[in-house]
Amino acid sequence: MSSNGDSLNSNIPEGPLADKWANFKDKAKLINPVNKRKFSVIVVGSGLAGGSAAATLSELGYQVKCFCYQDSPRRAHSIAAQGGINAAKNYQNDGDSVWRLFYDTIKGGDFRSREANVHRLAEVSVNIIDQCVAQGVPFAREYGGLLANRSFGGAQVSRTFYARGQTGQQLLIGCYQALEKEIAAGGVEMFTRTEMLDLVVVDGHAKGIIVRNLQTGEITRHAADAVIMATGGYGNVFYLSTNAMGCNVMASFQAHKRGAYFANPCYTQIHPTCIPVSGDYQSKLTLMSESLRNDGRIWVPKTKEDAEAIRDGKKTAADIAEDDRDYYLERKYPSFGNLAPRDIASRSAKEACDDGRGVAKSGLGVFLDFSDAIERLGEDTIRARYGNLFQMYEKISGENPYALPMKIYPAVHYTMGGLWVDYNLMSNLKGLHVLGEANFSDHGANRLGASALMQGLADGYFVIPATLPAYMASETPGSVKTDAPEFDEAEKAVRERIDKLMSIQGERTVDSFHRELGMLVWDKCGMERTDEGLREALEKIPKIREEFWTNVRIPGAANGLNMELEKAGRVADFIDFAELLCTDALDRAESCGGHFRAEYQFTDEDPEVKSGFTNPGEAKRLDEEFAYVAAWEYGGEGKLPKLHKEELEYEAVELSVRSYK
Ligand SMILES: Cc1cc2nc3c(=O)[nH]c(=O)nc-3n(C[C@H](O)[C@H](O)[C@H](O)COP(=O)(O)OP(=O)(O)OC[C@H]3O[C@@H](n4cnc5c(N)ncnc54)[C@H](O)[C@@H]3O)c2cc1C
Repeated sequence: MSSNGDSLNSNIPEGPLADKWANFKDKAKLINPVNKRKFSVIVVGSGLAGGSAAATLSELGYQVKCFCYQDSPRRAHSIAAQGGINAAKNYQNDGDSVWRLFYDTIKGGDFRSREANVHRLAEVSVNIIDQCVAQGVPFAREYGGLLANRSFGGAQVSRTFYARGQTGQQLLIGCYQALEKEIAAGGVEMFTRTEMLDLVVVDGHAKGIIVRNLQTGEITRHAADAVIMATGGYGNVFYLSTNAMGCNVMASFQAHKRGAYFANPCYTQIHPTCIPVSGDYQSKLTLMSESLRNDGRIWVPKTKEDAEAIRDGKKTAADIAEDDRDYYLERKYPSFGNLAPRDIASRSAKEACDDGRGVAKSGLGVFLDFSDAIERLGEDTIRARYGNLFQMYEKISGENPYALPMKIYPAVHYTMGGLWVDYNLMSNLKGLHVLGEANFSDHGANRLGASALMQGLADGYFVIPATLPAYMASETPGSVKTDAPEFDEAEKAVRERIDKLMSIQGERTVDSFHRELGMLVWDKCGMERTDEGLREALEKIPKIREEFWTNVRIPGAANGLNMELEKAGRVADFIDFAELLCTDALDRAESCGGHFRAEYQFTDEDPEVKSGFTNPGEAKRLDEEFAYVAAWEYGGEGKLPKLHKEELEYEAVELSVRSYK
């Protein structure tokens, strides 16, 4: 096993990259079936990552308790996933391979992810599809019965498996059925409408959680031999995002406060194809799946005058002649065209709108146009491929996308940062394992489309069942009970925090704080960040926190259903977390993937631009200084966190300037 960085041991197995996972499994510790039954595991989260882990661990014999805040595991945010899931099956015979999926993911992440984890992900991807097909997931098929594929950004092959525009839902139904089977068999005890409010750490090991029943307000303690968190991403720190309204950072941030390092919080993904913001009091944004970029062409008018005429309703897209349109992705990135990766496509849309050529009323919108595809393939084919997405667009925007191009604009969508984990998906806190979007592990500075579902299911179905024994084998089952003093202390802290929130009775709603915070973070730490803007945000966030804790108003009581109280706890953590996000963004004085620092971009003076290899304005990495994972240790409220670095060592891949030209 090799050690990386100061106090961080990434536990990467020995051997050549392609053999590491096999080597690990050959030599990994095992727990025999009789002993497995003696071990208990808490799984917080029942989305694709948590649900698959809970079902699989129970199937293996562990006693599992699974928690989620929705009324059913089937309502986890994973259900929203539309476009698809990647796997290196090479069913299209178009040159795909495990290596290619690995390489695309490393390059897509702008060379900021851990090679060994990504290679394992690519290897396991093929098993995921088999597992899901065996569960009955209705993936789209070709006429002859083989599974169909489409293309997603950052790849030149078709490796994305899909179930119309409802891939997440269908995968989650498969996963949920596996979970329900184990619940019925008594292997999983399921706690719905139950929110984890704190992690209990005993002698440096995660041994339990404190939860609140969201319907009764009851606070309870749960102990286990290991804790797995699969609690999703933190995109809602920006207030407006494509995430479900409930998505929050509370579980991860509470674990962070208990000692778990938070890695790369500044890596957030802005998705290029979302329905533009339409008004001040919107609370949610809608994704139009990346799959639409298979057939849709993105453009804006070449001139500001035409764009202005469209914004003013004096012209429509149809009035703009072909020669007067700028298909800017096809122009700038001829090899990948409209399937350039998300970070690049998003920034290009912003650039076109900043140039005054946006077509939505607000100026922040570009066209996604299907007219060529409809002419080539017919409306029926387009309807069969994307019907539900077109219907959703029409319902929200009131425009018929078969007749008029869609208007889209980038929006916050996914978070690549998360709790730091080693190769075994264990955090620096022993026993605390983190899966799915909640960990930082596989996507570097930018996630490729259709890779989140792949990672969540890889983590839950295949990785954690193999890696958990590495921790469990040295533990005594049931060694910590809920009467330990650490549980007393954690429960007391939870109760005090709720009492404090309820006692403020100020004048502002929880949402008003969330909105203020989100707008600030979007403005200063969104698609483009600067040293000056980040410092400004870091000055303002403590003021928001101060006002929140003196002026928030939470009606109702704590001993029953109280959604304002639920939200207040989540927003309180978002405020503290926003500080960490901006601190990380300020510290990372380079641009990479979704982290675009305006000061670090290619210019006409750079040899890579002069040679035509890349374009001016592209993100400029500084590998010598920043080829590391930034893992932050909590420093206390309002105090600076401490940075730990996991140096990224690339054995198989050469760090290079990313180009999709
Ligand atoms: C609109 C949209 C479309 C997408 N489409 C795709 C796609 O096509 N392909 C793709 O690969 N990815 C897609 N993604 C990304 C992908 O859906 C997510 O990254 C992934 O589903 C996250 O899964 P997860 O299991 O990690 O977390 P989630 O599905 O978010 O599950 C989190 C779970 O944790 C629980 N939880 C959280 N906090 C607590 C707490 N404090 N106490 C108790 N329980 C808690 C929740 O109840 C829930 O059960 C999309 C995302 C969005 C927003």
